[in-house]
Amino acid sequence: MSKTQLTPIIARWALFLEDFNYEIVHRPGKQMKHVDCLSRYPIMLITHDEITSRIVNCQQSDEYIGSIKQLLENKQINDFVLKNNVLYKIVKDSDLLVVPEALQNEIIRKVHTNGHFALAKTEQVLEQEFYVPNGRNKIENVIANCVECILYNKKHGYQHIFPVVDAFTKFTWFYPVKSPFAQEAIGKLKLQQTVFGNPSRIITDRGSVFIAKEFETYCSEEGIQHLKITTGIPRGNGQIERMHRILILVLSKLSRDDPTKWFKHVPTIQRVINS
Ligand SMILES: [Zn+2]
Repeated sequence: MSKTQLTPIIARWALFLEDFNYEIVHRPGKQMKHVDCLSRYPIMLITHDEITSRIVNCQQSDEYIGSIKQLLENKQINDFVLKNNVLYKIVKDSDLLVVPEALQNEIIRKVHTNGHFALAKTEQVLEQEFYVPNGRNKIENVIANCVECILYNKKHGYQHIFPVVDAFTKFTWFYPVKSPFAQEAIGKLKLQQTVFGNPSRIITDRGSVFIAKEFETYCSEEGIQHLKITTGIPRGNGQIERMHRILILVLSKLSRDDPTKWFKHVPTIQRVINS
């Protein structure tokens, strides 16, 4: 405790500990995995109970799991174990819950969308708790069909959506665009202009499109007041944020068969949201 500038919290700990005779021992990260896991994968924890009970229920009707259970009744199989009639696969000394086929895609998607992880990371997080037979192929398939990943990754065609919400009527327009540049946004505003004229005010975030000189120039030339909300406070543009969540969700569902053509579903979603 030789530091001269203690933070208040450390100072309070030091005061509290003064009454005790103690020795501080450093515990390396390797020995802290069980504690760390509580903070590393929050979504797994939130959904864990619900997911686990669904997996357990669903295991009853899964053919593959049923056949392994049957085998286990007669003899021991090295890498599988039954606990309370629930099947686990033993991988590197951990018991991983065997995910029945009906829930595999859902679980993989949950893990993947937690941070839109790439293949290896999704696999690694999944294998903390779950075993999915032939998992790698299934993860690949889920990622290849993830609309958000496609929106971000595709190097050709439409990659972004430029949303416009009328603050008074809440009427919403979604414009698929090919690049996140001011030119595209201005083009869509001009399209709006041909029908409705110019808005008196535009509220945007501070995305590169909106802080671009070109965009500012357009607004001032057209006499449009441009307000930029503070970065890091998505609430500031709540209507758009809400629309984004709905849009991504519905788009993912509609584009499941051919994710590369996601933009074809955008007008349908726009119509539904506005009706
Ligand atoms: Zn993704």
